[in-house]
Amino acid sequence: MEAPLMEPGPLDAGLYIVATPIGNLGDITRRAVETLDRCALVACEDTRVTGKLLNLLGLHKPLRRYDDHASDVAREALLSEMAEKAVVLVSDAGTPLISDPGYRLVRDARARGIVVTSIPGPSALVTALSMAGLPTDRFMFAGFLPAKDKARGDVLAELAAVPATLVFYDTGPRLVASLDAIARCLPGREVAVARELTKLHEECRSGTAQDLAEHYTAHPPRGEIVLLIGPPGPPVAPEDDVIEAELRAALAEMSTSQAAGKVAKAHGLDRKTLYARALEINGELKG
Ligand code: SAM
Repeated sequence: MEAPLMEPGPLDAGLYIVATPIGNLGDITRRAVETLDRCALVACEDTRVTGKLLNLLGLHKPLRRYDDHASDVAREALLSEMAEKAVVLVSDAGTPLISDPGYRLVRDARARGIVVTSIPGPSALVTALSMAGLPTDRFMFAGFLPAKDKARGDVLAELAAVPATLVFYDTGPRLVASLDAIARCLPGREVAVARELTKLHEECRSGTAQDLAEHYTAHPPRGEIVLLIGPPGPPVAPEDDVIEAELRAALAEMSTSQAAGKVAKAHGLDRKTLYARALEINGELKG
């Protein structure tokens, strides 16, 4: 590990991406406080939210409102400043750029050769993944599900076969609709709801989407939510009679070898076994 403390004095010019707590002030890192203390300017989503955080930390810095919808002129102004002094980017909570503003600023700063560095810290995404008990070797973060039913179903259908745990951000008023859509589009998947992470009423509840929808219909959820869906299981082998029917249908249209190959490929089955059975069927049909 590197030495944990920074040198005192102002920071070098550049863009510093600083993560802030997602609920519990105790999660602010030492480097985050030092960076905020030694920077020249803090760019933030909401000056009131960040002003409050700085007050709690006993720091006073010039604040500048910034989000990805800022005009090109406003972004240019910020880029010019960070070429000469240390500019911190924070979001209201958690890690900037993770479902939060900053992507355009980082892209443009890097394109201009401005030094960009990140001071890591809390993010609801990683916090939820680390406690939900779902596989973490592969995960896919997909932001917020769309608010409208049709679009929500389309996104879930698009992601259904992704062999990874799916992670979404969600809100209390939308949670039950999201769970209903998951029950419909991804039946049988393990689901977890991680709510109010790092706060007094933190909870992480797992189950099927249907059970969780019933629970949260009876107990409308408050606060901030991360919704996780476990990966799809291995494909279920179809019943023997289904294979038999498909093989007979294929034999009516193509050669024995082609029919065996077609059904084997469709279900990931052994081609030789199906070929042998196809020969038997042909024999039965002739005899
Ligand atoms: N950049 C932030 C991060 O790194 O987690 C996320 C910002 S995004 C605009 C806000 C969403 O993050 C919330 O609607 C919620 O889904 C999730 N979130 C933030 N804080 C949370 C918390 N304490 N518990 C659960 N989810 C949280």
